[in-house]
Amino acid sequence: MDLTFLQRDYTVPGTFLYLFCVFTVIIFVRYIIMSGLYQRWVYDRLARIIPRRIISPRYPKDQKMKEIMWSGISSVLFGIIGVLMIMAWQKGYTAIYVDWVEYPLWYIPFSFVGALFVHETYYYWIHRWLHHPKIYKFVHRVHHESVSTSVWTSFSFHPIESVLQAIIIPLMVMIVPMHLSVMLVLLMIMTLSAIINHAGVEIFPSSWRRNTVMKWFIGSTHHDLHHRRFTKNYGLYFTFWDIWMDTESEEFDARWIKATEAE
Ligand SMILES: [Zn+2]
Ligand SMILES: [Zn+2]
Repeated sequence: MDLTFLQRDYTVPGTFLYLFCVFTVIIFVRYIIMSGLYQRWVYDRLARIIPRRIISPRYPKDQKMKEIMWSGISSVLFGIIGVLMIMAWQKGYTAIYVDWVEYPLWYIPFSFVGALFVHETYYYWIHRWLHHPKIYKFVHRVHHESVSTSVWTSFSFHPIESVLQAIIIPLMVMIVPMHLSVMLVLLMIMTLSAIINHAGVEIFPSSWRRNTVMKWFIGSTHHDLHHRRFTKNYGLYFTFWDIWMDTESEEFDARWIKATEAE
């Protein structure tokens, strides 16, 4: 992997600004391209051939532009956090490593699964806190203005929430060693799962609800119920915290069957 960008001095304002612009553009353009392709290739296609898979058929006309605007602001903040993380890495404040043999190979999948668990736990409790009435109206309300969600809702957060969402990755790599590729895969999963969960189309097979492993994964039907019912289904990738804390919606099974029936 080409790591020459690590040799530049990002405390120089011009260099900082350059990398910030590169990161922000990459993050925002990636959001636009991935969301647009998902809408066209998955949502539009399933709407034609399996219409019951569509769980969020329409949303207010002005919603999409608002969501893209908030997502643009989120991308700027993610860009800043990205550069700060590179600077922290340069100064030796992170435990990111690039040499595959620096830790035993089993540590790669272990750190990946561990990071997913830590991220899930962090998100679930932060998310519940964001629903506290005193906090909700100032911060999380922006995301919940989209009751019927779409791919464009995936980055639509109040700036404070965007920072809270992004900060967990630098926090984790400052404490626990993580291979650079594991971190990049986690960042990709964050974006992809946000799109899948907000797209308003259920893509998971019907059988997953009965599968010992796959039943723990959150999909569009699960998160759609969070946007419609507010106080249920707080999870990010997995259902376990909702099940353990008894916050999973009672409507979930019926909605799941409705979206995936006859398969
Ligand atoms: Zn959401
Ligand atoms: Zn919420």
